[in-house]
Amino acid sequence: MLLTVHATAGALIGQQINNPVLAFALAFVSHFILDMIPHGDQDWIDDYKGDQKAKVKKIISIVAIDVVILLALLVSRFYYTDSFAPSLSIASGILGGLLPDFLVGCHELSDRLFKNFYRFHFIVHDLIKVKPSAVQGIVFQAIVTGILLLSFR
Ligand SMILES: [Zn+2]
Repeated sequence: MLLTVHATAGALIGQQINNPVLAFALAFVSHFILDMIPHGDQDWIDDYKGDQKAKVKKIISIVAIDVVILLALLVSRFYYTDSFAPSLSIASGILGGLLPDFLVGCHELSDRLFKNFYRFHFIVHDLIKVKPSAVQGIVFQAIVTGILLLSFR
């Protein structure tokens, strides 16, 4: 799932649970729960199995766009909502929500680090064998992000 969805979920958890350690842990777990839901990203990167350079380029461009959207959403949320003040719990929630994909990325780049974690991540990710299209996945993730954003206090 896109970083935007995981970070928004983490921020929401951090806002609801005003405890940085607990927010981090719950956001970390939320990553796997969200990734378990089929979300159409299985083919985004798989076409590049032979060409590692092209694969890395594609991952970097997806992540860059994703992070820009994420920052725009969070900054606008902070800016337009008085009750949504940045806090350590929100920051911890965002970090906890993003950490699993960061560790996966470390494995992708090193091919050694976090090997078991990488396997676990994709076992959970591919648990449900339904595969929506990329477009269905993007629409679904946009809806989830919208619901999460509307759930902030
Ligand atoms: Zn993930």
